[in-house]
Amino acid sequence: MSGIVIVGAGECGTRAAFALRETGYSGSVTLVGAEPHLPYERPPLSKPMNGTVQMKLICAEDVLRAAGIDYIKGVSASKLDVDARTVLLTDGRLLPFEKLVLATGARPRKLGCPGAERALDLRTHADAQALFASVGPGRSAAIIGGGLIGMELASVLRGKGVAVSVIEAAPKPLGRAVPPRFAAKLHARHIAEGVDFHLDRGVSAINDDGVLLTDGNIVRAQVVVSAIGVMPEITLAQDAALATGNGILTDTHLRTSAADIFAAGDCAAVSQPGGGHIRFESWRNARTQAETAARNMIGSPEAFAAIPWFWSDQYDLGLQVAGLPQPEHQSVVRRYDDGELEFYLDGGRLVAAAGLGFGNALAKDIKLSEMLIAAGVRPDPAALADANLNLKALLKSVRAA
Ligand code: FAD
Ligand code: NAP
Repeated sequence: MSGIVIVGAGECGTRAAFALRETGYSGSVTLVGAEPHLPYERPPLSKPMNGTVQMKLICAEDVLRAAGIDYIKGVSASKLDVDARTVLLTDGRLLPFEKLVLATGARPRKLGCPGAERALDLRTHADAQALFASVGPGRSAAIIGGGLIGMELASVLRGKGVAVSVIEAAPKPLGRAVPPRFAAKLHARHIAEGVDFHLDRGVSAINDDGVLLTDGNIVRAQVVVSAIGVMPEITLAQDAALATGNGILTDTHLRTSAADIFAAGDCAAVSQPGGGHIRFESWRNARTQAETAARNMIGSPEAFAAIPWFWSDQYDLGLQVAGLPQPEHQSVVRRYDDGELEFYLDGGRLVAAAGLGFGNALAKDIKLSEMLIAAGVRPDPAALADANLNLKALLKSVRAA
């Protein structure tokens, strides 16, 4: 039996392999990963502990072996033949499959300016090692891109005594995924920590002095980091003529345009009930899509419907966002001694929640908010704003009703 092959051994591919076993699949499972390590987590790469880059493994070798997962590391899948149901690897092996998961993730978007090759990326463990080896107290770094990586990195580098400049094309940092209220608070904290912002600016070149901006100014820096977003890794799917767009297109069950081929994680753009496709770029999404794809491969069809969620750590602050807050939503703010939650209501229904506080202070209430969102509550906004309203009690009363 040719079994199931998974291409990409990141969070998503690895989780899919284990989820197949958890759902009772007993055929062969082969996991192919281009990186030369055991599967590892990416979030710790931008949150080094005690100044050291961590290699937080998702699983040890004996755990893969015990689960009967055949892990082929340091080798890429170079060609997918949909009709023959085979995947060709860069070492010449040809893997037949009954079903396939594409979990090829994403790769850093590249700058197009002269000197772009001088900028470091932060996606892999090797990238993180190279980056953190080149910075230290008294050094200077320019980070191009004020998104999640840029801002997490800025906070870590300030903690190491590095002079940090952030260059961002938009008028404000963190404009893409973080609700404006918390993006503004984090921006203010970065300024207070001494980060030098160059907003609403393009980059025209990178040279020995640092970064030349489109307005003619130079941001002097010894180290330049590019953190301008990612592109879904869709080459294999595109070459095999699968439907692609901003990702490998799937239906709501994570099935691609080819029979028995699924896609999940950062590489997958999933069909939405209201039309269009959405591609998420977060750790939990990679896991939950992997689990849904695994169940769909061996059982009855299940639409992917998890509530999006991500977190970010900057300085001593923890941000969490559940759901997809939109500018048109009604905002309700709830204040705590050590942070704030903001709820988002759409036509009276709770659809999203975000929180910013010290460390993990708001984690429990964000988790409860997620459950309230899933329960479809239509809370009284004034009661929601009152920090004395116990969210657990609210959830209980909703469930009882
Ligand atoms: P990836 O992690 O990109 O894994 C895909 C794997 O497939 C890669 O190892 C790649 O080499 C391999 N591959 C690709 N093509 C092939 C091929 N043809 N053959 C074989 N192998 C192939 N998310 C959060 O929610 N919170 C965070 O705090 C957070 N922090 C992050 C910090 C950093 C520095 C980075 C880079 C990301 C962070 N993320 C965070 C995002 C999160 O890590 C990703 O969304 C998640 O890793 C996506 O998992 P994935 O398996 O879909 O893709
Ligand atoms: P990102 O969050 O997409 O942010 C990239 C930022 O760079 C955006 O603000 C973008 O502005 C800006 N930008 C684009 N081109 C630019 C240019 N030429 N000059 C200056 N600025 C430019 O991506 P990222 O921070 O690079 O993160 C990469 C991936 O890691 C993402 O998938 C992210 O979700 C993931 N990640 C997640 C977390 C987390 O969830 N905590 C942490 C780290 C990383 P526009 O939006 O206007 O294009």
